[in-house]
Amino acid sequence: MGAVPKHRITSRRRKNRRAQTWAAPSLPHLITCPECGEMIRPYHVCRNCGTYRGRQVLAAKEG
Ligand SMILES: [Zn+2]
Repeated sequence: MGAVPKHRITSRRRKNRRAQTWAAPSLPHLITCPECGEMIRPYHVCRNCGTYRGRQVLAAKEG
């Protein structure tokens, strides 16, 4: 006999648990780049102007 649940999980408890599980990854948080105003992910180099925390990291895309 394998692992058998001791108690029936009610639909309310199951739905509550799933609501918690799926709530977290639904927030893709973005910030605006202080250099160019592009929407970027925090703690990442801006792909538009190539800066991170006010410092030039990548070669800036001209234009
Ligand atoms: Zn930028």
